[in-house]
Amino acid sequence: MNSTLYKRTHVLLRSGLRHLILFVLAIATTLASADGFDYALKPQRIADDTWVLVGRSEDFTIANGANIVNTAFVVTGAGVVVIDSGPSRYYGEQFRQAIASVTAEPIVKVLITHYHPDHFLGNQAFALETLHALPDTISGIARDGNAFAENLYRLSGDAMHGTEVRVPPKAIAPGPFSVGTHRFEVLALDGHTGADLALFDLGTGVLFTGDLVFNGRAPTTPHARIEPWLASLERLDALGARIIVPGHGAVSEAMPASQQGKPASSPHVSIAQTRDYLRWLNATLKEAAEQGLDMSEALALPLPPQIQRMAVSASEFRRSVSHLYPAAEQDALTHAHSHRY
Ligand SMILES: [Zn+2]
Repeated sequence: MNSTLYKRTHVLLRSGLRHLILFVLAIATTLASADGFDYALKPQRIADDTWVLVGRSEDFTIANGANIVNTAFVVTGAGVVVIDSGPSRYYGEQFRQAIASVTAEPIVKVLITHYHPDHFLGNQAFALETLHALPDTISGIARDGNAFAENLYRLSGDAMHGTEVRVPPKAIAPGPFSVGTHRFEVLALDGHTGADLALFDLGTGVLFTGDLVFNGRAPTTPHARIEPWLASLERLDALGARIIVPGHGAVSEAMPASQQGKPASSPHVSIAQTRDYLRWLNATLKEAAEQGLDMSEALALPLPPQIQRMAVSASEFRRSVSHLYPAAEQDALTHAHSHRY
């Protein structure tokens, strides 16, 4: 290589390297900027004074920033009641901005429905004294919150930047409370986790179910006990709600009796679907265990068409088998044993 060509090549390489460094710095600056991850939150008005932010029916990814969850707020005339704070600090901050775009009223109560991370890791954005949850949710967040947050960092990356666990300091009891013109009923249920809060607005007929109800998406079961969960669905169904805001999936209105299938299982498609899924899951795992299938055989079981139609059902079924199959196998053994003797 002659010396002129060498110099030119060297200069070109250096300028290319400089551009690359500038490019990397620009990306790093964008990611570290105050705005962080943009969730593009758009509140949807679903009833008088009542707004919902509907997340995606997906698994946690880098691209969705863990926004797979529904959050909501009610503007009562004497302050805003918030239901769940979302999956990250950025989400919580943008959720506050979204609320401020609708009302100037202060946020007076934030109710955390249960201890799963996509529902409470936005807590940092809200005043600590406004954060409320059931007692077992509070102890669950204190115990497992950091491990859950680390897992979400792993799955959703930069969107989680700066997120830290804030344990709600205020325990809420089941029963009625009023804020402004709205009368609410807090229900203390369980089954999806050990403590699942649902909130019913008696005036608007809107029922916020947390993750006791999923719509169009397979339920998650890492801390589930299916029998109590089914009992909780009965309680929710009996409230006669007009609109259901599920923890995940679309908001839906009650169907008139004339449009319900026979036998009508619920005026709420989301409750019926969650119940059908849980019953199917329970029966499938029980049968597999009684037939003596091992876990890899249970994992390979085919999903019926109505289950396949639900978003992320293949991955949730695999997770559910790993969560629930050991207990199903144990039950089958105990059952066989009690029959033999
Ligand atoms: Zn959950």
